[in-house]
Amino acid sequence: MRYFPLFLDLDNRKAVIVGGGEEALRKARLMLKTKAVIHVVAPALHDELLGYLREGRLAWAGKRFHPALLDDAAIVYSADDDLHEDVWVAARARGIPVNAVDDAALSTFITPSIIDRDPVVVAIGTEGTAPVLGMGLRSKIEALLPQTLGKLAIAASGLRDHVAERVPHGNRRRSFWQRYFFGSIRDSFLAGDTKTYTYELEAALIDDSSPSVGRVSLVGAGPGDPELLTLKAQRKLQEADVIVYDRLIGPGILELARRDAVRIPVGKKPFAPSPKQSEINAILIREAKAGRYVVRLKGGDPYIFGRGGEEQAALIAEGIAVDVVPGITAALGCASSIGLPLTQRGQNRAITLLTGASEDGLADHDWKALARPGQAFAIYMGVNAAGDISAALLDAGIDHKTPVTVVENGTLVNERVMMCSIGSLWETLALNGVEGPAIIYVGLTPAKTSADILPFPARDETGHQVLRAVS
Ligand code: SAH
Repeated sequence: MRYFPLFLDLDNRKAVIVGGGEEALRKARLMLKTKAVIHVVAPALHDELLGYLREGRLAWAGKRFHPALLDDAAIVYSADDDLHEDVWVAARARGIPVNAVDDAALSTFITPSIIDRDPVVVAIGTEGTAPVLGMGLRSKIEALLPQTLGKLAIAASGLRDHVAERVPHGNRRRSFWQRYFFGSIRDSFLAGDTKTYTYELEAALIDDSSPSVGRVSLVGAGPGDPELLTLKAQRKLQEADVIVYDRLIGPGILELARRDAVRIPVGKKPFAPSPKQSEINAILIREAKAGRYVVRLKGGDPYIFGRGGEEQAALIAEGIAVDVVPGITAALGCASSIGLPLTQRGQNRAITLLTGASEDGLADHDWKALARPGQAFAIYMGVNAAGDISAALLDAGIDHKTPVTVVENGTLVNERVMMCSIGSLWETLALNGVEGPAIIYVGLTPAKTSADILPFPARDETGHQVLRAVS
């Protein structure tokens, strides 16, 4: 280790930035996170720096650099290539840590990649060997640390005396803080659930061995591509003790879960008995009551054709705390990823999400209203009932040429896109042997995408296959 990591107290200390351009701005943004008194030295200032100047958040100490401007400074950045040498000499003469942007030879320190959950701060450095690696690590850790982690640390610091009074020193107190930062107390704090937080906190203060109530997060996993998970979903997967997941959740997503989490599949498998909703609810209740943190991972969004509301009600009825993490629902994810605008000026002002299937076959809808010109809708669970759906729409007077786009296994490597008209929907699905989950869009016209302007089909490499079966 050539560079020793440390945290420098800049409270009310002078920090000098030499330069007024983009680089200087970047350093100023960093310094503005602290309570340093920022002095900028430059002939002219970037607009954003001028804005900070007007707000009184920094001072314009001079147009031309001269060494005395560094007197009493705690730190100096040189963000002007032509002045690196001068700044270095002046800073060294005064014993001030100095950094010249992109010039390690004229620097005594380097700035790490920072993850800011003030007052919790993670700094990453590669000693200049691999900045891209540093940034990559940063975004991975970013995703793991909840935005409110800093607030948790502040809350803990406010409790320290109280805990010292009530919990004996040593193992007992250590395990209290473990539970505070890594267990159920933190889970309820981060979920913003003050009632459970207070309850868990009191229980842990009274007796560390008292069982904690577990909690459940209903987490939307998006349409399939693991990269379409939210940061929050990813974090919860890292924290879960138990993951109860659907059939639509692919291996790529489960890979993001904590290695030692218990995984319970509850999806409907073909030709195998599938758990009933009541059985799924019972599993969630059992695991949470055992004090575990349960993530109920659901395809798309938990509340859209996902029975999330029912699971939530069952848990609440048992006194178990629940929070919900939204996900990209299939109708939105599949459309955007293939370049199919869900609303377009001059085409449709509304889009309806509907289910094609109900418990006893074709779902009941106002087909007359849907068949009117200008209607646009996305049908979930519509493949099996596709023949009945198009018949119902044609009976209700829909133009048989109304455009239809079908996306099967949307956003996954085996995604297929089919285009046809409502009159040829059933045939298109049958001819292409559609078996995976699919969304059927009616009444929408695809936008031109880059695939359309490529000289030859380039999608094969990624496994994406585009079929354009037009009636
Ligand atoms: N809660 C989920 C929907 C569950 S219902 C959501 O918000 O997306 C299951 C239906 O969702 C499937 O029958 C199919 O119509 C649709 N679906 C889910 N994932 C899909 C995907 N990757 N591609 C196409 N359709 C998908």
